[in-house]
Amino acid sequence: MTVAAGRETDLATALAALRDRLSDAARAADRDVDDVELLPITKFFPASDVAILWRLGCRAFGESREQEASAKIAEFGELTGASDVRWDMVGQIQSNKAKAVAAWADRVHSLSTAKVAAALDRGAARAMEEGSRTAPVQVFVQISLDGDTSRGGVDVGDPAAVDTLCAQVAGAAALRLAGLMAIPPLGADPDTAFAALAAEHRRILQNHPDATELSAGMSGDLEAAVRHGSTCVRVGTALMGQRPLTSP
Ligand SMILES: *Cc1c(COP(=O)(O)O)cnc(C)c1O
Repeated sequence: MTVAAGRETDLATALAALRDRLSDAARAADRDVDDVELLPITKFFPASDVAILWRLGCRAFGESREQEASAKIAEFGELTGASDVRWDMVGQIQSNKAKAVAAWADRVHSLSTAKVAAALDRGAARAMEEGSRTAPVQVFVQISLDGDTSRGGVDVGDPAAVDTLCAQVAGAAALRLAGLMAIPPLGADPDTAFAALAAEHRRILQNHPDATELSAGMSGDLEAAVRHGSTCVRVGTALMGQRPLTSP
């Protein structure tokens, strides 16, 4: 078997196992598995892997760094010629990269600051004028559950700050507030963390009833996230394998 065929077999096996795992998690939580999106996170893996996943039926992918994503999206296009694909940004965005992100990101899961929101809105408005994008960017406001905002997110202990950023996104012409996202603090109990996120989501829904999405859960904690209402699990390692040690 060639190396490429071996990778295809490995990814097909991992994808099937992951879909089974997500079905089990949904059933255990008494939820419909179709209400939880499985978003493959392909950061640090080559465009050829994304092309395999696309052939296996995946139609959306998450990336965490603008430059890596832009290059991979171009290469993926050359490999597949596919147009039926969406790309999501899940990593922190520097405001000088927001315009570039707005050129390719269907959704941003990781908005944490007013400055980046404004830059993303300007970039998306420009892209819509130029015809390179047809819809506003769907935005998740990232919540920090332990107040350590150096890892991204607005402090859940500062509800006024969360409200302000959500209102800014909801009022921006080229952005739509999709919902909230969080990554549990290191060492935290996932159930406790996702329960806190779900509570904050219920609070935000009072003013933003359309912001129904909850981006929560990764390879190690997707069952807990599904128990607490996740509508999108972002899975890297359990699908792609271990990333190189340089991973953030
Ligand atoms: C890398 C990454 C993931 C995937 O994490 P795994 O533990 O490998 O599944 C999910 N969300 C974000 C924001 C990431 O950066």
